[in-house]
Amino acid sequence: MEEIIGVVGAGTMGNGIAQVAARAGYSVVLRDVKDEFLERGLSAIDRSLQRDVDKQRLGEEEKRAVLSRVKATTEMDDLAGAGFVVEAVTENFEVKAEIFRGLDRLTRPEAILASNTSSISITKLGAATRRPDKVIGMHFMNPVPVMKLVEIIRGIATSDETYDRTRALTERLEKIPLECNDSPGFVSNRVLMPMINEAIFALHESVAPRESIDGIMKLGMNHPMGPLTLADFIGLDVCLAILNVLHTELGDPKYRPCPLLKRYVDAGWLGRKTGRGFYEYER
Ligand code: NAD
Repeated sequence: MEEIIGVVGAGTMGNGIAQVAARAGYSVVLRDVKDEFLERGLSAIDRSLQRDVDKQRLGEEEKRAVLSRVKATTEMDDLAGAGFVVEAVTENFEVKAEIFRGLDRLTRPEAILASNTSSISITKLGAATRRPDKVIGMHFMNPVPVMKLVEIIRGIATSDETYDRTRALTERLEKIPLECNDSPGFVSNRVLMPMINEAIFALHESVAPRESIDGIMKLGMNHPMGPLTLADFIGLDVCLAILNVLHTELGDPKYRPCPLLKRYVDAGWLGRKTGRGFYEYER
């Protein structure tokens, strides 16, 4: 049913999702608002596949075939033929709701509309459409080609059939689906973001320099990377948006975003993707 997968948003997550879908043999329509964002997304896919070619995990020919299965477009209408669409645009309810309304008008009635949102209510996104039973959360982890988990979130109206099809697709993408209910931040970010926020407070209050905070968590807790490095990797704007959802929706002051995080986002220091966050990066 889902031979053609639509992906909306060609950023950090969208291009990764397009890559794993194309690699699993699906035709992919990747949509963003500007050609330059699509070009950036496609070159990220190219670089990622090339790393696999260099490590002899993928042949040159196969790489070309994967790339040829990704069609990049700025036209929303090109998503009309998709049987399954994953939305991966900016973490903002209004922006996402507008896309869901558009996809609902455009795609055939049996198409599933999934969101890669980190924290926004799937139930609310479903309510923006006439098919809330076919709306579901499909929360991939970053970097998508490497990370095995997909957190699958059921909205209040999501049907069992939608859930089963989403699980089956996740497995075909060689990922592991784990289910959770619709609640702000789901499981992953409800647990992760308070830790990242606390690390930023520790920096803000000069408890220790950035390297020590990261080193203590890495070596002491056996985490693969420290929380400040991870925040830079995720994107500080994304972290702030998620904390704002947790804070507003759950109403508990413990989720209050650290002022230092807000200041960095105001400065445009968004982490790896802008070359500067808690650390500096070559671009
Ligand atoms: P990003 O900023 O890297 O990319 C977002 C892309 O969406 C941009 O290219 C932007 O041009 C595009 N976009 C915005 N409005 C659009 C529209 N109307 N139509 C088409 N494209 C549009 O963001 P990201 O980090 O890839 O995050 C995308 C989503 O994935 C967010 O909901 C985020 O919470 C979630 N997410 C992010 C991570 C992470 O580690 N970055 C992990 C899991 C989930």
